[in-house]
Amino acid sequence: MLLVDVHAHLDLLGNDREIAAAVERAAAAGVKSIISNSVDPKSMRKTLELHQRFGIVKAALGLYPTEASRLSAAAIEGELNFIRSCRDRIAALGEIGLDYQEAKLEKDRRQQQVLFERQLELANHIGKPVIVHSRQAEKGVVETLIRLGCKKVVMHAFHGSLKLAEKAAGAGFYITIPTNIPRSSHFQAFAKALPLSRLLTETDAPYLAIHREGSSEPAHVAATIARIATVKGMVPEEVANVVFSNYQNLFA
Ligand SMILES: [Zn+2]
Repeated sequence: MLLVDVHAHLDLLGNDREIAAAVERAAAAGVKSIISNSVDPKSMRKTLELHQRFGIVKAALGLYPTEASRLSAAAIEGELNFIRSCRDRIAALGEIGLDYQEAKLEKDRRQQQVLFERQLELANHIGKPVIVHSRQAEKGVVETLIRLGCKKVVMHAFHGSLKLAEKAAGAGFYITIPTNIPRSSHFQAFAKALPLSRLLTETDAPYLAIHREGSSEPAHVAATIARIATVKGMVPEEVANVVFSNYQNLFA
């Protein structure tokens, strides 16, 4: 089967040997591409290293929303320049977005907004897709993406309403179904209602595991495909093929 994991954090799966083993298990399960996402300056460098080491690993570079208040303005400037300088080595900008659960103060939310928009503008400028985090800020995230004219968008672990997800899909954005779908009525409803042409699969490894206590890894997308197939009344191969062509359309 042709499988893809568009949002993982491979650098968080353990030491180099453990990461290599997870990549091997993914390849054995049929995963053709893993987009490893970064969150801060350190994970950006590690993600590039993993991309260099493993043929099926692609790199997404980006500053997570909370970096907006953690890094100085000069450091952010430097990191944006670094991402720009890596344009030929990266598949996307991610993980970027807004997180209002982490930012209660208006000042912090404004800083997140500025960082998010600067990364979106950079992505538009260098023609890369964005992989977007949104927590308690889903409406603002979708509005910002539409206002800035973003076309290549992955909404990762999107917990907005189905109506808002349909609006995002209508704007041409892709919405992921994560590994935790078996224990998430929210994502089961998304998988059922949203057109397969707008869906992608992700693990957010090591998060969003099939079982609450476990951890996820890219090989687990096979189970996600099977679950989407059940919900949609299709055969898994058919679902995998459409999801893979969605991936190719977006990241080609
Ligand atoms: Zn993530």
